[in-house]
Amino acid sequence: MGVPLVEIAGLTVDFGNDWRSRAVDGVDLAIAPGEALGVVGESGSGKSVTWLAALGLLPARARVGGSVRLEGQQLVGAPARLLESVRGKRIAMIFQDPSSCLNPVHRIGRQLGEALKLHRGLSGAAGEAETLRLLDQVGIADAKRRLSDYPHQLSGGLNQRVMIAMALAGQPDLLVADEPTTALDATIQAQILALLAGIRRDTGMALVLISHDLGVVAENVSRVAVMYAGRLVEEGLGQDLFDAPRHPYTQGLLAALPTLTGPRRRLAAIPGTVPEPGKAPAGCSFAPRCPLAEPRCMSEPPASRRVGLLHRAACHLQIEPGFSAGALPRAAE
Ligand code: SF4
Repeated sequence: MGVPLVEIAGLTVDFGNDWRSRAVDGVDLAIAPGEALGVVGESGSGKSVTWLAALGLLPARARVGGSVRLEGQQLVGAPARLLESVRGKRIAMIFQDPSSCLNPVHRIGRQLGEALKLHRGLSGAAGEAETLRLLDQVGIADAKRRLSDYPHQLSGGLNQRVMIAMALAGQPDLLVADEPTTALDATIQAQILALLAGIRRDTGMALVLISHDLGVVAENVSRVAVMYAGRLVEEGLGQDLFDAPRHPYTQGLLAALPTLTGPRRRLAAIPGTVPEPGKAPAGCSFAPRCPLAEPRCMSEPPASRRVGLLHRAACHLQIEPGFSAGALPRAAE
């Protein structure tokens, strides 16, 4: 990777006073200009909190440590004014439920117009022309008529397109899409993912696609980072990670995906749940659910190490490509 657009180093987020209650624990991650990165993991793995922390969007009681640099400029602890100039303009974020982000009592034309005025100083005829262009770019037909609609008059898919248009209003260098399709049905999900891919291709914008669903990220990103209990447990090029996952957690996630071909089989589930902050063992957070756990896994946190070209995993074991932890019996709880 050349000079990263965003470089996260040693990022920590604490909501309590005990270091073991960390929601994000020493995350290192870099995104190149124009790159598409998938961040996957179950609910509670720290995917969203990582990016909310990076953008200074967490409540005041959250303590954020480490470093987040945007083209070298430090964002952790940066003044509110600097963060306001970054949010929406350099880095935009969209969320799972657009109806919770759009104002229900304002027409969508007005909401888009406000975003354009704030981020690019556009108003009047220029603002309306750009509003129409953005709605057209996100595939909303009859855009002029839609300007006077309220969010409740639009379907979930159309509201998500409006959210994407608002995110594009500032012409960001990076769009962080946090579970953008989870609330949508399968056909609309595919349309929104294709839309994001097309926009990225046309604008050169980088994309971070956050999802609990490896299937969603598989076809839409070039690199994948897997998070578990606030830590980055595996990271690699999409093909490497899907063909030869090296961390038992990633193997478990892949084993849980349904297949379209071959004989019908019972879906494999990873037993247990992600530990709450403060309830994970001092060593590897995945140990209580890992079929390969050894005694040292409970007390020694595994370091991230290189397991291939551009491929890293945080596990004490040297798991070879092709080995599947899913085939082994699970460890005792
Ligand atoms: Fe499993 Fe131990 Fe590796 Fe953690 S370090 S994933 S518990 S084998």
